[in-house]
Amino acid sequence: MAEDVTARAAQLRRQLEYHNWRYYVLDDPVITDSQYDRLLRELMRLEEEHPELKTPDSPTQRVGGAPRPEFGTVVHRVPLFSLANAYNEEELRDFDRRIRDLAGDAKVEYVVELKIDGLAVSLTYENGVFVQGATRGDGVTGEDITANLRTVRSLPLRLHPEAGAPPLVEVRGEVFMPKQAFLELNARREEEGEPLFANPRNAAAGSLRQLDPKVTAARSLDTFLYGLGAAEGLEPATHWELLEFLRRAGFKVNPHIRMAANIEEAIAYCLSWRERRAELPYPIDGLVLKVNSLELQRALGTTAKSPRWAIAYKFPAEQGETRLKEIIVSVGRTGVLTPTAVFDPPVHLAGTTVSRAALHNEEIIHARDIRVGDIVLVEKAGDIIPEVVASRPERRTGKETVFHMPQKCPACGAEVVRLPGEVAHRCPNVSCPARLRESLLHFGSRAALDIDGLGPALINLLLERGLIKDVADLYHLQAEELAELPRFGAKSAANLLAALAASKTRSWDRLLYALGIRYVGATVAKTLAAHFPDLRSLMAAGREELTAIPGVGEKVAASLVDFFAEPRNRETIERLAAAGLNMSGRRRERAGPLSGKTFVLTGTLAGFTRSEAQAAIEERGGRVTGSVSRATDYVVAGEKPGSKLDKARALGVPVLSEEEFKKLLEERLVQA
Ligand code: NAD
Repeated sequence: MAEDVTARAAQLRRQLEYHNWRYYVLDDPVITDSQYDRLLRELMRLEEEHPELKTPDSPTQRVGGAPRPEFGTVVHRVPLFSLANAYNEEELRDFDRRIRDLAGDAKVEYVVELKIDGLAVSLTYENGVFVQGATRGDGVTGEDITANLRTVRSLPLRLHPEAGAPPLVEVRGEVFMPKQAFLELNARREEEGEPLFANPRNAAAGSLRQLDPKVTAARSLDTFLYGLGAAEGLEPATHWELLEFLRRAGFKVNPHIRMAANIEEAIAYCLSWRERRAELPYPIDGLVLKVNSLELQRALGTTAKSPRWAIAYKFPAEQGETRLKEIIVSVGRTGVLTPTAVFDPPVHLAGTTVSRAALHNEEIIHARDIRVGDIVLVEKAGDIIPEVVASRPERRTGKETVFHMPQKCPACGAEVVRLPGEVAHRCPNVSCPARLRESLLHFGSRAALDIDGLGPALINLLLERGLIKDVADLYHLQAEELAELPRFGAKSAANLLAALAASKTRSWDRLLYALGIRYVGATVAKTLAAHFPDLRSLMAAGREELTAIPGVGEKVAASLVDFFAEPRNRETIERLAAAGLNMSGRRRERAGPLSGKTFVLTGTLAGFTRSEAQAAIEERGGRVTGSVSRATDYVVAGEKPGSKLDKARALGVPVLSEEEFKKLLEERLVQA
């Protein structure tokens, strides 16, 4: 019996160590947080029941993961801790009882904060100036990511003067990725054939822990600060006072932080967020209760892993069970094969009906022991994306089948390849009809050349009838042949030809993006177009010239050089040029009906992604910037706008709803 327990504890430790490494070092977990937490809790229970099993290096006793050696290391003056967890109200009351036992007669107040799902950082300011930033690492030693943190716009590089300039302060808090930015980043990565981030927390960590700060700068990261490490010349008496100092000093402090006079008030506040969390534009995975008095905090002290004066209340995961009917495999533009689970019946999760979920790759499917026909548990990861988290092996009938990636491309039959060091399987055939279809869809998409009417059904028809074989063929389509397509007719044919004609005049960065070169997303395309006068001079540029451009790394440069070296690609570009597509012009010099107008976008628009809205503005000569000032002409506010809306109102900048924005775009098109 004891042997069984010892073996199980050892097995759990091995598993947890593996998952820690995937999560903290690679930013690429294969199991969900709730599954990880279940394993950790099992180990904690075993160690509690059999204290002789506890080892100092057990994952129950350690914070985070080892720092990656590629970064310089920083030894924290005061260690950074993890948090103990509570999963229900009773566990919060137990926590309160432990605190009050120690506090005696002293009154115990709590500060209740949202638990932001990002990664902890420690920022050192000397005499008011930012000198060093580090990750939490293993709590004692973190990674030096100073250069990357400097690119995060909401972090002050100098404390505001009203905060004074204390000789030393280590400010602690969270760097996170807003939900919308996460979705857009993953959409872009999917387009570019890059592996997707599992959730916003991993995306934030992956973006911040980059060897090239240019990559971090291109990602939308934001911050909330909430803590203090070492300090000289600063002695707040309470946590609340500390938060006020942070606000004065110019840090972003979360607006939903509240004081609670006792545990019941704190619990009520926690529960009130279970429904409301979906409304927030950034991810949270619970709330944190902190003892307000710093004197009492010091008296309570810490365990090896977490402070005794704080606890995280974790939301229960939104889960549902259903049958995984089949796994379909689709082929993307870059040839990546993506397996998708199809559910029968669909499951209802947090107000949405989910009938499919991406499974990412074979490794994850096997790690979670998911088989076709299984009853599976579906959860919303980071509260955003539905995910199959586990199977129910005990409910198997014997008819379930283990899934393997097909060895041949499901669209063209080519032998599927797996490049060394990549998890993705790919179809290597550049003329694969599925790849071609996706490339054509991308070419005509809103943020690319915006060819109205060029949807999946039409593309399928054009390919089936042999009317097109590549993107350049689009510009040779004739009205008569289009009019003969089923359900098409003369009017649709004329509309499509007009849309194709209009697409020839788009700025050349959009053509560059439309070509679908690996790693060249809309932002990189804009950077390149701002640097080169035309596509031909970009085609002639070598790697060195390319990597000298801020925002262009080795990977992008190599991909561009390879793409333009391929004769078939050069030929397509020549044919596009012959068809009259615009291939030159400095983006900034664009004149249009919105020339000289500056826009700021906030919140989610129903009919546009961020890059589509930006493209629509820029196409008309306008400019999009990140922050609101008196120089801003319009703020476009979608669903769940952020603080930019408040700022616009405060400064009297006109605010447009999505409807008004659309009207403005249309009007300005007519005027043009
Ligand atoms: P944690 O994330 O649960 O809690 C501690 C962290 O909370 C702090 O370091 C800080 O970054 C953050 N935090 C956010 N808001 C805060 C606030 N207002 N005040 C204080 N701290 C705040 O603990 P952890 O040790 O960092 O990581 C454990 C988490 O990581 C768990 O959710 C676990 O499931 C997950 N994990 C998952 C895997 C996996 O394979 N899926 C592996 C390892 C860890």
